[in-house]
Amino acid sequence: MRYISTRGQAPALSFEDVVLTGMASDGGLYVPETIPQLSHDDLAAMAGLSYAEIAFQVMQPFVGGEIDDDTFREIVREAYATFNHDAVVPLKQLDANHFLLEQFHGPTLAFKDVALQLLGRILDHFLKKRGERAVIMGATSGDTGSAAIEGCRHCDNLDIFILHPHNRVSEVQRRQMTSVLANNVFNVAIEGNFDDAQAMVKASFADQGFLNGTRLVAVNSINWARIMAQIVYYVASAVALGAPYRQVSFSVPSANFGNVFAGYMAHQMGLPVKQFIIATNTNDILHRTLAANDFSKKELAATLAPSMDIVVSSNFERLLFDAYGRDGKAVADLLERFQKEPTALADAPLAKLRELFSSHSVDDATILEVIREAHHRTGELLDPHTATGYRAAERARADQSTPVITLATAHPAKFAEAVVKAGFTGVPLPPHMEDLLEREERYTVLPADLAAVQRFVAENRR
Ligand SMILES: *Cc1c(COP(=O)(O)O)cnc(C)c1O
Repeated sequence: MRYISTRGQAPALSFEDVVLTGMASDGGLYVPETIPQLSHDDLAAMAGLSYAEIAFQVMQPFVGGEIDDDTFREIVREAYATFNHDAVVPLKQLDANHFLLEQFHGPTLAFKDVALQLLGRILDHFLKKRGERAVIMGATSGDTGSAAIEGCRHCDNLDIFILHPHNRVSEVQRRQMTSVLANNVFNVAIEGNFDDAQAMVKASFADQGFLNGTRLVAVNSINWARIMAQIVYYVASAVALGAPYRQVSFSVPSANFGNVFAGYMAHQMGLPVKQFIIATNTNDILHRTLAANDFSKKELAATLAPSMDIVVSSNFERLLFDAYGRDGKAVADLLERFQKEPTALADAPLAKLRELFSSHSVDDATILEVIREAHHRTGELLDPHTATGYRAAERARADQSTPVITLATAHPAKFAEAVVKAGFTGVPLPPHMEDLLEREERYTVLPADLAAVQRFVAENRR
C-alpha cells in the first residue's frame, strides 16, 4: 500500500514511513493511493466477531504487509485490552432508531484513546525494528495530550514530551497527564497560553537540530494511523446494527475532522452509510462551509465543548482531495487562497459533498438544554461534545427510518463543569479512576522560551 499527498508534490510513501512522517513535505496530508474494499460477504462475516478481530481485518490492507499478520494481531489485541468494556466501543440504544456509540471506555475517557493506544504500539514496533529511538513532542489543551501519554507510556523506544499551559487546563485533564509516572513521560507546564505551547512545538518540528539527529514524531490527528484506527468503529457499529443488509447514519461531534473523515473512509471501503452528520459548536467552519459555502476562518471562541474549539479543520483537506477528483494542484490552490482570505468551494465538489454530508452547529446555551433534555428523555448524561452530536442527529437526519448512531466522544465526568452548569450535582469518575485526585503528580514548569524547552527535551530524552 502506498500513500500520496493531498497536494500532489511530495513523494509517495510506504505505511511505515507515513506513520513516522506526519505531514507531507509539500504541506499536504497523506492518504492511501487506493482504497481497500470490504465486500458484502466480508461485512456479513464480521457479525459477532470481537472488536479486536474486526479491527485487524479492517486495518490489515492499509498496513500492506509491513507488519506481519501475527504481530499486527497481537498489537491490536494489546491496544484494545486497555479498554474497560469488552465491546471496546459499546452501542447503547436511546430510542427506536437513535443509538449512542460510547467511545469513552479507554484510559483517558475520550475517543482519542481508540487511535492513540494503537499508534504508540505501531510506532514502537517500527522503531524497534529499525534499532532507532524517537521523541514525541506535542502541545495540548486537554484530550490529546493525556491520550498520547497513555498510548506511549509502555513504549521502550519513545520518549514523550507534552506541553500544556500552566494552570490553564482542568484539574482532571492535568492529572490524567501528570499522574503517569513512567520514565519516558515528561509533562511540561508552560508559563503561557496554549498558543505559546503550540508555537514552540511547531518551531521544534521546523528546526530539529537540538535533537542531534534523533527523529521527532507528531501524534496529532494528521497522522494516518490515527485515521486508520478510527475507521474500525464505524464498521463494527454498523455491522452490529445489521450492515451490510441495512444502512446506518452517523452523527459526529467534529473539530479537526479526523473522526468523521475516518467514517468517510469506511463508506469508501464499502460500508453502507446513508448520511454523515457533522456536529460543531460555535467554532463552525465545517458547518458554514457545508451549509453556506463560506470557507473562511473566524475568530476562536471558547465553548463548553473545548475539544472542538478550532479555527481551521486540518483533516478536511483529505476530504477536499477526493471532492476535487484527487487533483492535488486544485487542493493546493484552494488552501493557499483560504489562508489569505475568505473563499468558497467550487460548485461540483460542494455538490458531491452534500450528497453524503449534512451539518449542524450548536451553541453553549443549546448544549446545556440538550444535556437536560437527553437526560430527561433517555436517562443518559451526555458530555458537552456528545450533546452537539445528539442535537445534530435530531435536526439534520435525512429520514427517520435509517438508524442514526451518535458518537459519544467523551465521558461526562471529564467535562463535569458543563454538566454542573446544566443543573446536575456532578459526575463521579468511573471506578478505575476514582483515586485520580489523590495520585502523585510529576511535571516541570518552564517559561515560554523555546531555548529552555528544547534544552529540557535534549537533556531528558533517553
Ligand atoms: C478531539 C475531540 C473531538 C473532535 O474530533 P476531531 O477528530 O478533531 O473532529 C470531539 N470530541 C472530543 C471529546 C474530542 O476529544
